Amino acid sequence: TLSLRALHKSFGTFPVLNGIDLHVQRSEMVFVLGPSGSGKSTMLRCCNRLEEPDSGAIWVEGDLLTGPGVDLNKMRQRIGMVFQSFNLYPHLTALGNVTLALRRVLKMPRAEAEAEAMAALKSVGLSDRARHTPAQLSGGQQQRVAIARALALKPTVMLFDEPTSALDPELVGDVLDVMREVKEQGMTMLVVSHEMQFAREAADRVVFMDGGSIIEQGPPDRFFAAPEQERTRAFLSRMR
Ligand code: ATP
Ligand code: MG
Repeated sequence: TLSLRALHKSFGTFPVLNGIDLHVQRSEMVFVLGPSGSGKSTMLRCCNRLEEPDSGAIWVEGDLLTGPGVDLNKMRQRIGMVFQSFNLYPHLTALGNVTLALRRVLKMPRAEAEAEAMAALKSVGLSDRARHTPAQLSGGQQQRVAIARALALKPTVMLFDEPTSALDPELVGDVLDVMREVKEQGMTMLVVSHEMQFAREAADRVVFMDGGSIIEQGPPDRFFAAPEQERTRAFLSRMR
């Protein structure tokens, strides 16, 4: 489980998160929607302390992540993150990228790290691309390497920030399929994405953010068919 309570964050005098309360259950996939600038990325980045919240608290499996004395390295191992830009090292192969994470973060010996990395690449369907560098991979394959890299660390929670937004449309499906498999393995997932059809099919719950607040949330059936708030309706009508 991942719990955010009364999360506040401002950049200068500009408030970006105005008291976010969100509880993601174990094995739940929560989808976050909202207009540009509503604070979605900032909320995700607070969850692994790429941004420091001004106040509020975040727990993973009951362990407090915010506040002093938290081992950031250990904490980031428990919370995997996948970004819109895949953030792979261009000079390393797919295998090298995943192996490096295991060696750095988990201090795994090389041989063991490579074996784990191969298993992770296999799980995203890229066994046959292990020796390719990012430039030799499609965008969708690069994103799957990034997912493999995060999964290899055996996180408790996975955060996705618009994982398919940088991809050509024909490559989106492969990445969504991998995310669906990750969910089927029982992963707890918080996903920012505009893939509405995927949200309808795969999300357990949809959360709508605007102006740094959660405006409305619910199961996808109800959320899309009968949104209660005017702001949600306006947003959804623009997305169609
Ligand atoms: P998008 O859909 O465009 O990705 P978002 O919902 O993810 O938007 P955020 O990236 O969280 O929005 O940004 C929320 C607000 O905070 C925006 O107004 C943005 O300009 C501002 N912001 C984000 N990061 C910083 C920063 N490091 N310094 C100052 N302002 C920032
Ligand atoms: Mg964003």
